[in-house]
Amino acid sequence: MFTPTRDSALLRFREFLPRAGRSYAATRNSDFGPDNRENVSILSPWIRHRLICEEEIVRGTLRSHDFKSAEKFLQEVFWRAYFKGWLEQRPDIWRWYQSDLKSEFSRLDANRELNTRYNEAITGATGIDCFDFWARELMQTGYLHNHARMWFASIWIFTLKLPWVLGADFFYRHLLDGDPASNTCSWRWVAGLHTKGKHYVARSSNIEKFTNGRFNPVGELNETPLPLHEERIAGLAALLLHVTLPEDDYILLLHEEDCAPELLALQKPPKAIVGLHGIHQRSPIGASKQATAFAEGAVRDALSRAQEHYQCESFDLTGEPELEPLSAICDKIDIKKVVTPYVPVGPLADALDAFGQAHASNDISIHQYMRPYDEICWPHATKGFFKLKEKIPKIISGLGLH
Ligand SMILES: Cc1cc2nc3c(=O)[nH]c(=O)nc-3n(C[C@H](O)[C@H](O)[C@H](O)COP(=O)(O)OP(=O)(O)OC[C@H]3O[C@@H](n4cnc5c(N)ncnc54)[C@H](O)[C@@H]3O)c2cc1C
Repeated sequence: MFTPTRDSALLRFREFLPRAGRSYAATRNSDFGPDNRENVSILSPWIRHRLICEEEIVRGTLRSHDFKSAEKFLQEVFWRAYFKGWLEQRPDIWRWYQSDLKSEFSRLDANRELNTRYNEAITGATGIDCFDFWARELMQTGYLHNHARMWFASIWIFTLKLPWVLGADFFYRHLLDGDPASNTCSWRWVAGLHTKGKHYVARSSNIEKFTNGRFNPVGELNETPLPLHEERIAGLAALLLHVTLPEDDYILLLHEEDCAPELLALQKPPKAIVGLHGIHQRSPIGASKQATAFAEGAVRDALSRAQEHYQCESFDLTGEPELEPLSAICDKIDIKKVVTPYVPVGPLADALDAFGQAHASNDISIHQYMRPYDEICWPHATKGFFKLKEKIPKIISGLGLH
């Protein structure tokens, strides 16, 4: 279903576009199964890697539909910016996730009963048919419908009583659209940690209705759980908006967070281009083969398009698990300024920070380019989604997307 190229992203968008209006709003909540995904866009693996950008989706949609008809679809697209902006301003949440995940993996080693339950969940052997089906679907296809993700996370947390971070890790390792912000925040949202005290409870009647009767787990789910609770309060971090890019020669660094180099408004072309991803850092136990292949393919596609667009030398580091070889390229071509599309909070940002610190004394400096779309959306991601949602018409006209 998913080829990691910009051409495939544009093709899928063109195919889906006629259904992005009222038809999407009316049917999007139904999960008709892996063989029938016509009611949703399935664009997320491409959008997540920015093989197609949100601005292009919004502009394209409004060329075919009026705002009112396409409002639901557009709002969904803006959820991505909301979660990214939200996590960017609360990096503690990402750090807690990583350290809790390490502790939970250690607990799995020490606790045989927990280990057995965890393994039943991730291999689709719990005996709850719908859950087991989705676990296998995720591993086989790298995609799940949004409603299935909600049901799955809710059953994981409240019925199977497994630690939410292990479930988030299972998703992050297998989803082709695996994203540090959308995934971590969505799991926290289901648990009742994102909107404090408001959790998402999977009910058999809702599953029966929205799977078109494919599943009906009556009596198998905990339908009266309490939300999870945490005492910690995340500190607020300021957004680094309006970064000035260097005027000297520079290397353009491409990565899995942003694979649309031809749509960067750079003042002058780069002297060389380097492509890498960051997928190896997704989890202490690595990412799935499919997710790795998608991220690698996306960066390679971006690299070849960038080379053609900017007509300069390129270096493919997608096979490298670390960022370190980038310093050898800086030395080889004697350029120490690296410009890169903004890397949001997540494993790649951690790796890039560590690289920047390790090489500050070699004069290598990293300059992150923030897209106007992120710059305008992220400051509104301070509370619930509603605050950003009510700004959507203004954002659209501010960016000239109508
Ligand atoms: C527990 C859980 C984990 C999730 N993990 C991820 C993840 O790692 N990566 C990810 O991209 N999405 C994640 N989502 C959000 C959402 O499920 C997917 O983006 C959506 O299902 C993708 O399918 P689609 O492209 O067919 O969506 P459509 O219904 O066609 O929506 C259109 C686009 O809107 C965006 N979108 C829709 N819903 C959301 C959302 N809640 N958050 C962010 N963007 C959204 C996506 O870019 C999507 O392609 C998660 C949701 C849950 C409940």
